[in-house]
Amino acid sequence: MMDTNIKRIVILGAGESGAGAAVLAVKEKFEVFVSDASNIKENYKTVLNKYAIKWEEGKHTEGLILNADMVIKSPGISDNVPIIQKLKALNKPIISEIEFAAKYTQATKIAITGSNGKTSTTLLIYHILKNAGLNVGLAGNVGDSFAMQVAENNFDYFVIELSSFQLDNMYDFKAEIAILLNITPDHLDRYQYQMQKYVDAKMRITQNQGPKDALIFWNDDPIIKSEIEKIQAKAQLFPFALSKGKNIAAYTEDKQIIIKTNKDIFTMEEDMTALTGTHNLYNSLAAGLAAKLADIKNESIRQSLSDFKGVEHRLEKVARIKGVDYINDSKATNVNSCWYALQSIQTKIILILGGVDKGNNYTEIESLVKEKCSCLIFMGKDNSTLHDFFDAKIDQIIDVKSMQEAVNTAYKIAQQGETVLLSPCCASFDLFENYEDRGSQFKNLVRHL
Ligand code: ADP
Repeated sequence: MMDTNIKRIVILGAGESGAGAAVLAVKEKFEVFVSDASNIKENYKTVLNKYAIKWEEGKHTEGLILNADMVIKSPGISDNVPIIQKLKALNKPIISEIEFAAKYTQATKIAITGSNGKTSTTLLIYHILKNAGLNVGLAGNVGDSFAMQVAENNFDYFVIELSSFQLDNMYDFKAEIAILLNITPDHLDRYQYQMQKYVDAKMRITQNQGPKDALIFWNDDPIIKSEIEKIQAKAQLFPFALSKGKNIAAYTEDKQIIIKTNKDIFTMEEDMTALTGTHNLYNSLAAGLAAKLADIKNESIRQSLSDFKGVEHRLEKVARIKGVDYINDSKATNVNSCWYALQSIQTKIILILGGVDKGNNYTEIESLVKEKCSCLIFMGKDNSTLHDFFDAKIDQIIDVKSMQEAVNTAYKIAQQGETVLLSPCCASFDLFENYEDRGSQFKNLVRHL
């Protein structure tokens, strides 16, 4: 429960998490004020009004904010904005919506973080638990906010996707089952371009865990391995890896997935899993481990891993036109996720990439691009970073300024047997509303070719 001296809670940002936090805070009898520097969406205004919650939009009125006993900050708001700086100078506690909501639920929390694969793995675990008949909620970066569901439901389990920004403002939260998928550079613009700061945020997923809790992590990731040694984790460790090794709890051998917990051994033919690509094999290993720890029957896990319908905008097959495959991987907003996309495709590729660069280093994909890409299409307002890196290395590079132009260009140059891949390595905000908008435009245009 919350410290009893806390009476007034101010919520900064009235999106999904802010609106949910406001409703939960009101239900828990706090005095609540919501402030958003931009316009608040109509549906969230309706929610706030329904609970008679006071709010403002388009500004932050200091007189109504700096008197907070506690602040719940949207993960979208950077620490550098003036209002946060002022609150910090006053030593006001600033927490995330997840941290707040966790105080009001007894549910077992399965929390997933990593640079890539969070949503895929979160939805996969939710699918397995739900199919097995558990009373389970889905929260975090996907679907409805955690706080709103804590306010309105009474789940036994929560599967929660956590970004580094959410973890940044989490202190007492504890995941009974924590999953750390991988750590590769991303969002460095929010971490003063210091990788260690981003790593530290990710490692917070393990905080407060004790001997009864479980930590599932990717053992082949050098950063994770050294960090786990550093923190001397107290939880029971369940490392997963591509192949067998000392203490590895989940791995593959002879085209089989093998998961060992202290209960029994789970096995499944690798090619029976619905999701394809090495990265999804990792996601399936992590999800399978979590499901075993939640006591789901082997048969049920097998069924769910094989009938899971992938996630939109993640290596999503759109169409085959004149012998050319079109794949939408709009959610690949960093270089590592593009690497997995390139690696999973066996044909020559016309790669559409670009957008808002978050401090990218393209060295990671250089050899795959050289080996597999017959053409690069740069789609962004400013393509200079991409040109600086690729110009001397790749023969055919074309600049475009819209998705329409990108799809038309790809259509014209693609040869039968090739793949057109949208896997941008970058955020989308220069030309699109968000990555969903970018992916949907791609799909619509492809379907109209
Ligand atoms: P997140 O929620 O962490 O952004 P998603 O599941 O939305 O992750 O996938 C984002 C991108 O990363 C997609 O392009 C997807 O194909 C790719 N991806 C999925 N799982 C992994 C993984 N384990 N490692 C690397 N890339 C992955």
